[in-house]
Amino acid sequence: MRDPLVDGWAREIKSVRVSVTDKCNFRCKYCMPAEGLEWLPREEVLSFEEIARLVRLLAEMGVDEVRLTGGEPLVRRDLTTLVGMLAKTPGVEDLSLTTNGILLDRLAGPLVEAGLRRINVSLDSLSHTRFAEITRRDALDRVLTGLAEAEKYPELRPIKVNCVAIRGFTEEEVPALAELARRKPYVVRFIEFMPLDADEAWRQDEVLAGGEIRALIEERWPLVEVPAKASSTAKRYRFADGAGEIGFVNPVSEPFCSTCDRIRLTADGRLRTCLFSRREWDLKEPLRGGASDDELADLVRWAIQHKELKHRINEPGFVRASRSMSQIGG
Ligand code: SAM
Ligand code: SF4
Repeated sequence: MRDPLVDGWAREIKSVRVSVTDKCNFRCKYCMPAEGLEWLPREEVLSFEEIARLVRLLAEMGVDEVRLTGGEPLVRRDLTTLVGMLAKTPGVEDLSLTTNGILLDRLAGPLVEAGLRRINVSLDSLSHTRFAEITRRDALDRVLTGLAEAEKYPELRPIKVNCVAIRGFTEEEVPALAELARRKPYVVRFIEFMPLDADEAWRQDEVLAGGEIRALIEERWPLVEVPAKASSTAKRYRFADGAGEIGFVNPVSEPFCSTCDRIRLTADGRLRTCLFSRREWDLKEPLRGGASDDELADLVRWAIQHKELKHRINEPGFVRASRSMSQIGG
């Protein structure tokens, strides 16, 4: 074991989001442009061995939670091989995946077999036309089939369903999504829209705050707060009649930066200490240039010393991140 990873504001880093690709088979309006956005050249993308080495090193420094993301992680060929490698890494206690769900019908079983134990599926609408409007793909049925497939594996729990909450769009979806949380073993979570869209169309008044959605739900179904871990991004509630759980991730209206324990690794091997970082720390070059484990660990420690105190979305003069969500790994 190595010393724990502590940032310059005394926060211990316990969680890493690893982007395995910047490619995606959807084009969600809040994330990607309708077309364009060049993919990374293949040789720039970290290999499974490179990812596994970095994760092993992070785990030696106390990082115990690993979430695979992208782009769309399930478009990366043989992802189950990486899942198997990471599931066996000493110290990795919580291995999860965030996906748009379109390939889950085929991959849920192999992922569970490889050692995946938790999954987040994005789902913004239960109406075919509105789903196609927001993702720019007519794929609702396949995502629901993917979710149903995931549900067959009791080892894969909780199943979280993530919805990006956008004013003028999501209000109409709230009753159906709340009902989904009541009907199915899914924890439905509403995530406030953040200025990470490639189109740069985000406006503060398009953020539909978690508190507003909670009020909408409580008009019909009373909710009771469930205690969450201090570092948790979500506020959790159960339906008072016991029928399921709902969550709210409120980075804009109720920032949780003071308890942030997360870092991110991009598909091209850059360490990001905040979603909104303007600066990235290249690990790929030293990794490929023969750096020792100790040298890599020192680089990671140095980067984390410089982790941002907080995001500044709500402050005048806020400057957007250097890349958009699908390129960072949300
Ligand atoms: N493609 C996978 C998916 O959609 O789940 C994983 C990558 S995606 C970038 C990760 C998460 O970021 C998804 O839950 C997505 O809804 C969310 N996301 C993307 N753009 C966002 C934005 N501008 N604000 C808030 N959440 C966003
Ligand atoms: Fe793709 Fe996920 Fe971004 Fe949608 S949110 S465009 S599925 S990376």
